[in-house]
Amino acid sequence: MKYEAFLKTDIWKQTAESVYCRAGGQCERCGTTEGPFHAHHLTYQARNRPGTPRSIPRGWLPDYKWIVCLDEDCHRFLHLLSPVDCFWETRQLYQSHVANQ
Ligand SMILES: [Zn+2]
Ligand SMILES: [Zn+2]
Repeated sequence: MKYEAFLKTDIWKQTAESVYCRAGGQCERCGTTEGPFHAHHLTYQARNRPGTPRSIPRGWLPDYKWIVCLDEDCHRFLHLLSPVDCFWETRQLYQSHVANQ
C-alpha cells in the first residue's frame, strides 16, 4: 500500500478524527482552534495498534499517543525543519502530550 492511498482509508480518517477529539479540537502545538487540522505521526517506529489490517505497513497506525493533532501551519513548520530540529520539536510535543495521558 502506498502512503498516499493509506491517508485516504477509513481507518486513517477515523484515527485522525479520534486524535482531533482527544486534542479537544485544538492544535496540540500552539493551541489554535482554527483548522483545518492534520494528524501528524510523532514517530513511524512504533508498532501498529492491535487489529490493524496486515496490508498496512508497520508504524503507520500506531497507538493514538504517537499521533498529534496540528493545524496546517504547525504541521508545515514541523515538516520544514531539519531532521535534528524536527527531532527536538517532536520530542517536546511528545513530552507535553504523552506525559499527560
Ligand atoms: Zn498549531
Ligand atoms: Zn506530519
